[in-house]
Amino acid sequence: MSVVKSGTTGKFGVITVQDNNPGTVHDRNPEALDPNAVLILFYQNAVVLKNAFKDVETNVNTLGSFLWTMSELTDIRSCLSALIPVDAGLGSDHALYAGLLEQWPDSLSAAQAVATRQFLIERGFDAFSIVGRASQWINWYRSHRYCGACGSQNRIHGKGALLRCPACETDYYPRINPCIIVLVTDKNKVLLARSSRRGATFFSCLAGFIEPGETAEEAVAREVYEEAGIQVTNIRYVKSQPWPFPSQLMLGYYADYAGGDLNPCPEELAEAGWFDVNALPSIPAPTISVAGQLIEEYCRTTISKNLASTGET
Ligand SMILES: [Zn+2]
Repeated sequence: MSVVKSGTTGKFGVITVQDNNPGTVHDRNPEALDPNAVLILFYQNAVVLKNAFKDVETNVNTLGSFLWTMSELTDIRSCLSALIPVDAGLGSDHALYAGLLEQWPDSLSAAQAVATRQFLIERGFDAFSIVGRASQWINWYRSHRYCGACGSQNRIHGKGALLRCPACETDYYPRINPCIIVLVTDKNKVLLARSSRRGATFFSCLAGFIEPGETAEEAVAREVYEEAGIQVTNIRYVKSQPWPFPSQLMLGYYADYAGGDLNPCPEELAEAGWFDVNALPSIPAPTISVAGQLIEEYCRTTISKNLASTGET
């Protein structure tokens, strides 16, 4: 199957059909959409595969393992709620929709539902990215069914990138929560920490949400001080990554150590320490997260510079 693009908004067509249940947004007539459209289906926080997960492990990068065609919806359409157009930002002739199953269809095996986070861990971010993108639209829809101003049930509006309250006309656009993630460095040492969350085994960068009124750089300095008790300088942006659990955008930074004694906040961190670039603990895989990429790239570059300065190759 070719790579998917849905940048041509004119293809999206009507996506909202109200049935006889007032206040319920449904589209149970997928044939009314572009017949060449493809869908990524979700049930709660899981993505629905076309075959059991174990059956597609050997073909991990095949979009066909999770992209459903309109003709494949026959047995499950009665369980299908909203279909939301997703701009995949890639390249193909197919419109892409995210679909939400309100009930689990009898015709599907339970093994076909895989938690989105598990999907990322198993397949890496490149294969996961389109699923993560679609999941953010579904999470937005699921968490904004009712108007926060008056309590009426929202409806998908227009081409689908907007939920509108029919009573007070308050609009709800998809929400992204910006976070910073920062690798603090001191020449050949990097500051890594293990979260106090139960089950956290990796050492990683420090991270936190940007608060209202802050710049991203201010958030970097505040989070590092709050979590580790040290000051930083030379804060510089590196790269970003959408992190759809449920809707974060991670802004990745490097920052230089500027002073203070390491004093991990016990509410946030189980432990923290300075690690030599040649002797890292277990870190997140660079194929999965920007945290792993920040750490791997800094250490690799630093090691190369050190070798060059000593005349080694
Ligand atoms: Zn309202």
